[in-house]
Amino acid sequence: MRPATQAVHLGRPPHEADQPLNAPITMASTYVAGGDLEYGRYTNPTWTAFEDALGGLEGGRCLAFASGLAAVGTLFDLVGQGEKVVAPRHSYTGSVLQLGDLELRGRVTPVLVDITDTDAVVAACEDASLVWLESPTNPAMEVADVPTITAAAHDAGAYVVVDNTFATPILQRPLEWGVDLVVHSATKYIAGHSDLLMGAVLTRDDQLYDVLKARRDLFGAIPGTFEAWLALRGLRTLQLRVEKAQANAQELVRRLRERPDLEEVRYPGFGGMIAIVLPNGGLADLVQHATELWVYATSLGGVESTLERRRRWKAEASTIPDGLIRLSVGIEDVEDLWDDLAHALDSARE
Ligand code: PLP
Repeated sequence: MRPATQAVHLGRPPHEADQPLNAPITMASTYVAGGDLEYGRYTNPTWTAFEDALGGLEGGRCLAFASGLAAVGTLFDLVGQGEKVVAPRHSYTGSVLQLGDLELRGRVTPVLVDITDTDAVVAACEDASLVWLESPTNPAMEVADVPTITAAAHDAGAYVVVDNTFATPILQRPLEWGVDLVVHSATKYIAGHSDLLMGAVLTRDDQLYDVLKARRDLFGAIPGTFEAWLALRGLRTLQLRVEKAQANAQELVRRLRERPDLEEVRYPGFGGMIAIVLPNGGLADLVQHATELWVYATSLGGVESTLERRRRWKAEASTIPDGLIRLSVGIEDVEDLWDDLAHALDSARE
């Protein structure tokens, strides 16, 4: 099956008389003993349906988590006491904050790198226990040479993780490059409607799967059943949403690049995320408040377009320009998106 078909068909009950077409919402804290399920912290048939669908799309086994950061934290927890973690200095702020917290407590030794500098990342892989990649990065929009870095990390005996939240398995399947683990904020494109938080981890390594499943069982960072059901419903249209958001983004980038008032338009060439850089934070603040259609909101990957100046967050890296606005392009009509955005940019100039 190809991805669009997988997204629609995986994780459904069997084609048998009287079966519903969709996996039901199984609300259960416990199950009649003697079978495989036992208790609601260990498994849930609605999570399993979601995991089967996303697992098929990424080409690995999936574990659903309560949020993207719950999944990220579970992966950082794989690192042994004091061991080295290489990560992009422009990883999602929450991931960098977790690393900082672990470093403060002497748990891990993070080394933050520029992931576009492949030679430097390869050199940093020496002695590493975990190489964390996010590609494209949030919100710097940098792209890593994942296959080359993965080979170097494996030579050093390190695991490689890719945060695939921005690209989604429709545009990039890192497990096919030999990456050990993929992580998602399923809150974003996977679920796609800005109405829930969820995370996911994927791997082809059965031993890693068992370790992570045991951690999820023990620490309980599990998704709600209704969230899993909604996320699976959202996943059904992933390919359509990603294709439309990407087509809109590509057209917007073409037009934005013609505007002399922007210092930079950052776009990796694929996906629905764009970063534009205005000359200063004040102008960027004006723009984020001037749109009517684009919603001034954090988060991304929903059907509706959103924008925000990233440095409004104290924790955002100081190397992210003060005037950088992250645009999450939705699936609306591109002409409406352009009219609103161009009007907001014009009004900030006046
Ligand atoms: N990874 C990336 C790339 C993100 O953008 C985010 C959230 O914005 C996360 C992880 C964390 O996910 P969540 O907010 O679902 O915990």
